[in-house]
Amino acid sequence: MNRFPCVSLVAVMLGFAVPQMFAQTPGATGAVLYEGARLITGEGGAPIEGSAFLVQAGRFVRVGRKGDVQAPAGAIRVDLTGKTVIPALVDAHSHIGYMKNLTSGPQNYTRENIVDHMHRFAYFGVAASLAMGTDFGEMPYQLHDELMAGKDPDAARFLTAGRGLAPLAEISAANMHHATYVVTTVEGARADVEELSLRKVPIIKMWVDTRGGTLKTLTPDLYGAILDEAHKRRMRVAVHATELTEAKNLLRAGIDIFAHMISDVDDELVTLFKQHPNTSVLTALGGPRRIVSAPWLNPPNALITETVRPEQIKRLQDRLAGQTPQAVQQGRDAWDRLARTVRTLSAAGVKIGVGTDGGGQTGDQFVGWTMHAELENLVAAGMAPAQVIQAATRNAAEILGLTDLGTVSAGKSADFVVLDANPLDDITNTRRISKVFLRGHEVDRAKLRAGFIPTAMPTR
Ligand SMILES: [Zn+2]
Repeated sequence: MNRFPCVSLVAVMLGFAVPQMFAQTPGATGAVLYEGARLITGEGGAPIEGSAFLVQAGRFVRVGRKGDVQAPAGAIRVDLTGKTVIPALVDAHSHIGYMKNLTSGPQNYTRENIVDHMHRFAYFGVAASLAMGTDFGEMPYQLHDELMAGKDPDAARFLTAGRGLAPLAEISAANMHHATYVVTTVEGARADVEELSLRKVPIIKMWVDTRGGTLKTLTPDLYGAILDEAHKRRMRVAVHATELTEAKNLLRAGIDIFAHMISDVDDELVTLFKQHPNTSVLTALGGPRRIVSAPWLNPPNALITETVRPEQIKRLQDRLAGQTPQAVQQGRDAWDRLARTVRTLSAAGVKIGVGTDGGGQTGDQFVGWTMHAELENLVAAGMAPAQVIQAATRNAAEILGLTDLGTVSAGKSADFVVLDANPLDDITNTRRISKVFLRGHEVDRAKLRAGFIPTAMPTR
């Protein structure tokens, strides 16, 4: 059968008839011009007051001042006067699919629960998050491909580090390390990394932590083999390591990403970072910080009550209220040291990206919310709001290798958050979310909200 006549007909329609027919209809070009907002581009520098940016086919096409940015005929115009726009946030360290109401563990790790978590991220203005070494099975890889392709327009991008690599002492049946590769030999470590490379995982995760001298962790020959094999295969390595001595050894061995803030800092550490300028650090301050201060919990912020069931909120309130004075003092000491590391590394020009450890198995680290708590934590540690926003947008996107996220600039994916107030005045204004856009699409936050806390759900 000769199909050319049909092709010709389509070509004629596409080439001539269709554009002319729709050019008179507003929005038929798919172009939308957002005008009037204060725009924080994420690239550093002062915000653009009275901005305009053009979005077409899911991307930023032009970014500048209102009146300077031209739009094609038929473009829809959206007035954002009085609002502040920031790039969509990126959380570079999460544990996705484990937490579900009052339980957290492998039994909750289903496709539906991961999708629910990615909806939560989107709801909170987070465009992407990396599950840090706690995924297992085939499903997360398939889901990654689907969500990265934008098959669910209301879901954030799900990135996976696949199965992490850990010493035997880290692993128990019920914790999130149950699915890790157990590293005991150099040959085994190299084979594990090779397997992850076949999955095209860009970043892998390993644990190097003696937990205060209580357990036997990976030795330098083992983590050195992981680093060497990963780098040969053009993958980067993120490490859970918080102890100062081990952090120095890991820097000397060529570590790419610290998944947590290092618990102490001295001149030698700063020098090693300067010798390794491509090594970056994620924040993960939430656990220690909320022992000291969690003003968002009493009363709970509206974003929490909209997404977390009352009994889970109460459990965290009770946990924090029931801490012993000794635990509070330990938390305060830990926080003071972490804050000093944040200030010192930030001042030294080390790339700091936001990674919250949200969804972790202990302590109700509410998925999505941890991002907004972390921004406040970083300001409390001594960073300026503009630096903090950059850490949560451009830096985190760069660390994850997401070249089309992190800033509002021409060519990037149109992922942005419209806020009712300016976070440069008060960082907690990132919580005053008016709208969230992913790939140019406005996330249906009302629909998502209705699904987070189903009214007919039985209590556990
Ligand atoms: Zn973690």
